Amino acid sequence: MIERALHVLEDHPIFDAATGAVLTLDGDCELDACLMTDAGRIGAVAGLRRTRHPISVARAVMDQTDHVLLVGAGATRFARHAGHPDWNPRTPERIAWWKHLRRNLALGRTGPDVRFWKRMSAWHRTYGLYETVGCCAVDARGRFAAGTSTGGIWMKLPGRVGDTPVPGAGTFADRWGAVSLTGHGEGVLRLQLARHACDLMRRLPCQPALESAARHAAAHGVECGLIGVDRRGRFGAARSAGWMQVSGSGATGLRYAQGV
Ligand code: ASP
Repeated sequence: MIERALHVLEDHPIFDAATGAVLTLDGDCELDACLMTDAGRIGAVAGLRRTRHPISVARAVMDQTDHVLLVGAGATRFARHAGHPDWNPRTPERIAWWKHLRRNLALGRTGPDVRFWKRMSAWHRTYGLYETVGCCAVDARGRFAAGTSTGGIWMKLPGRVGDTPVPGAGTFADRWGAVSLTGHGEGVLRLQLARHACDLMRRLPCQPALESAARHAAAHGVECGLIGVDRRGRFGAARSAGWMQVSGSGATGLRYAQGV
């Protein structure tokens, strides 16, 4: 179910996942995705290129290999072998925006180096460019799964990997709940926030657990949004920064996170 829900979101060009993914400093899409179940089954890809459904490649890593995470050229090669043909995720809108950002970076009169990228974090906030997609589910038997798919953040350095494909950081499921995150990957990684939120669900219902995790993130200056579901099938959504949008639909049992 998670895989199918994320296909819809990955195909929609307004989201920062697969088609419509944001571009690296080089103008490429490097895609990250992770799928995890409460049984400890995990598949993830990072730095995947030119693939329509990264979440399905993550699923294939989970189902068809003994590995957890494939990255870069190896991930792309695996995707082709697993039946995912070449696909161009770069949309004209993203290319136009990339050119705009590049022009503005140039006006900042610093070179295209690491300092550039650091300066971008204020821009990410200004433009609200977090649009990662995620989904959390629980079935009638109380089994959990979470999935997240993203193009990462604008103008990231080629090779940069965020929180999304790292279990416990941007995606996590255990017997207490499932959580998927959007936000600034470096901060989320440092806090291992999805895992932290699931730990909180041992004693709190989903919504207060996510709110507590969001406060924890805010206390560390990390801007993020979380969605989740707990053992009693209660869905929740919380965010650590007012500008970030996190939304979803409990009625369908699907949640998605979106920032615009
Ligand atoms: N968390 C993602 C990353 O840092 C970006 C996002 O959620 O928008 O790669």
